[in-house]
Amino acid sequence: MNENLREIAEGIKKGEEITIGEGGRIKATHDKPVHPQHPEHPEHPEKRIKAPRSFGGPFLLTASIDCIPWNVKNPEMYIIDKIEMRKRYPEFWEMKAGDLVQGWHGSLQPVSGMDCFYIMAYYPFNFPPAMPRIKILAPDIFGIYYLMREPSKRHPHFYSDGAICSFFPPDKSWLPGIGTVADLLDFASLWLVGHLYWKETGEWIQPSIDHNPEFLKSILKPNDYCYCGSFKPFKRCCGKK
Ligand SMILES: [Zn+2]
Repeated sequence: MNENLREIAEGIKKGEEITIGEGGRIKATHDKPVHPQHPEHPEHPEKRIKAPRSFGGPFLLTASIDCIPWNVKNPEMYIIDKIEMRKRYPEFWEMKAGDLVQGWHGSLQPVSGMDCFYIMAYYPFNFPPAMPRIKILAPDIFGIYYLMREPSKRHPHFYSDGAICSFFPPDKSWLPGIGTVADLLDFASLWLVGHLYWKETGEWIQPSIDHNPEFLKSILKPNDYCYCGSFKPFKRCCGKK
C-alpha cells in the first residue's frame, strides 16, 4: 500500500484531524491524468462488469422548474460559492449554459503518488435547498464499483444517481446557505481517500451509516432533513407515505 495513503488512513481511523494536500487542502492537479479509456489504466473498460449508465449529467438536471437559473434567484449564494472555489479549488472550471451556472469540474489527487480523479460538482434543479451533487467522472468508480451484479461487492457509499455519499445530510455537517460547493469538494476529497483505502482493504474507514432505506426510515424523525440530500423534511421527501 502507498505509504501516504496508509498514514492518512491511520489518522482517519484514530479520529485525528488529518491534512491532505498542500497547506492542509487538497490541490487540484493535472500531473497524473487518468482516464478509464487509457489502455494502461488499471480500470480499463475491459475489466468492467457492466457498462456505466448515462446520467444525463448536469445539462439536463440543472434547469429549475420555473426556468430561472438558481444563480439569478440567489446571486449572493453564487458569489460566495465562486469566491470559495477560486480560493480553494482554483484549478476547477465553471460550467455555464447561458445565464445558468451548472457547476464546476476539475481534477483532484487526494493522495500524492496515487490516482488523480476527474470530478464534477453540479447544482441540481432543486438547488437550493437540495445540495450540489458530486460525481467522479474518471475513473468511473460508480460504473465499476456500484453497478455490479454481486450486491455484496458494491461500493457502499453512492447515491443511486451516481453522486458520492460523503456525509449523512440529517447530521447537518453541511447546510444549504451556510455550506459551499467547495466544502462539498473537501468532503469528496476525504471520501476519495476512503475509497482508495476501501479498494485495497475492503474496509470503509470514514464514519458511515447503513444505506438501507428501511433502516434509514426507522431512525429518522419526520422533521429531520431527508437522507437523500434534498434538505426537505424527511416526512415531505423520501419518508412520504
Ligand atoms: Zn429524500
